[in-house]
Amino acid sequence: MTVTYDLRLHGGQVYLHGSGVTAVDLLVREGRIAAIVEPGFVAEASETVDLKGKLVLPGAIDPHVHLGKDIRVPKDPDDALLESASAAAGGITSMLVYLMSGDSYQDIVPAARQVMEQDSHVDFGFHICVGSQQHVEEIPGYIREFGISSFKFFMNFRGEEGAYLGLPGNDDGYMYDVLGMTADHGAMVNPHPENIELVWKLKNRVIDSSRGPLSEWNQSRPSFVEAEAVQRVAYMASVTGASVYAVHTSSTLALEAMRRQQESYENLFVETCTHYLTLTTESNAGTYGKVNPPLRERGDLESLWVALANGQVDTVGSDHNARHRSFKEKDIWKASAGFPGTGGVLPLTLAEGLRRGVPIERLVDATSTRAAKLFGMYPQKGIIRVGSDADLAVVDLDGSYTINAATQHSGAEYTPWEGTEVPLRVVHTIVRGHFAMRDGVVADRPGGTYLRREKSGATALAATALEDDK
Ligand SMILES: [Zn+2]
Repeated sequence: MTVTYDLRLHGGQVYLHGSGVTAVDLLVREGRIAAIVEPGFVAEASETVDLKGKLVLPGAIDPHVHLGKDIRVPKDPDDALLESASAAAGGITSMLVYLMSGDSYQDIVPAARQVMEQDSHVDFGFHICVGSQQHVEEIPGYIREFGISSFKFFMNFRGEEGAYLGLPGNDDGYMYDVLGMTADHGAMVNPHPENIELVWKLKNRVIDSSRGPLSEWNQSRPSFVEAEAVQRVAYMASVTGASVYAVHTSSTLALEAMRRQQESYENLFVETCTHYLTLTTESNAGTYGKVNPPLRERGDLESLWVALANGQVDTVGSDHNARHRSFKEKDIWKASAGFPGTGGVLPLTLAEGLRRGVPIERLVDATSTRAAKLFGMYPQKGIIRVGSDADLAVVDLDGSYTINAATQHSGAEYTPWEGTEVPLRVVHTIVRGHFAMRDGVVADRPGGTYLRREKSGATALAATALEDDK
């Protein structure tokens, strides 16, 4: 009996781990890669799509997304629909969304999952933001019941700083508890590293306003504020045996602080974001570009590219936040922080990385494979191999487009990359064998499913090493 496949992707240049970009066909069955064959191999498939030499990459994974109009949790259909359309349009096939609440997540996770299952175009999982003692105690239950194994906390939420998210103030003793609890249960901590006491102190410092609003914002939260916090949490990780994943690393100083700790302790990981790789205080995004940590100087951007190329940067995320433009069109001190960016993670990182001569192995790792490994999704996600989900981004390296609010789909209605020319284009995004975007058009019907992830950090990496030995 001949096997019939659901989909044949013919004539692509496919990125295969270990062999690089190779001319092979992919045969998909029941949402998975069923076979990788020579282009001339005879097989029956319900549908064959000719990719005409385009580049086929493992679907990108955005490990850092915020959804919902108040950025705490996705609530309305368009929180999921529009923002996941943005992701799909940029070659993202899975996203990890932060849930933020001062209350227990027992009821919040199922509700958020329902909203996403209804309307997400891409597969999704959650990180939980912890801030209370109850949250720490419930960590083992969140891992067991929901398959959530990565926990954010805001080092800058001292005193009333977290009140806008309903989170109480914390301290280093709290951090110690969170690190210890996650270490005991094979999970990872994703700290937001900023020393808010330094920010408070610097508030009254004279700021040079001659270099534009983004420079003013950067001066108010200089990079040593980030570096000091990174150093502290990384050191405490080594004391407690925890895995720590420094989110949205933005600066030379933070990379150096992390590097010093990494010399003596290995379970420390670094995420940067597309905006720190492509925008600086000199960019003309105005207050749309306000974000925490702030956009930095040219030298920081260059350091991040060096770290991405040499592997110190593990992942690139978006810190996507669909904050509507009405909250951004204010002066730099009153404008909200954060902006949408999930649609740009793959095209911008890939285009700029290739232009700089960064090996494609590193670009695939940073936009997909490493996130899958660190967050317990590998080898289901993050790799093109037999048995893995058929999650693919098909890229036309001869195409191009200009970024504007419409290309980003987001409900935020602006983008800090407005007018940026991208010298390549994602043409198809395939999630478990289904086109979430086809020929540049996002699907009518969303089909994203929930990702359980029982392990993150060092425990997840140990499991993937066993997988790769198979
Ligand atoms: Zn964030």
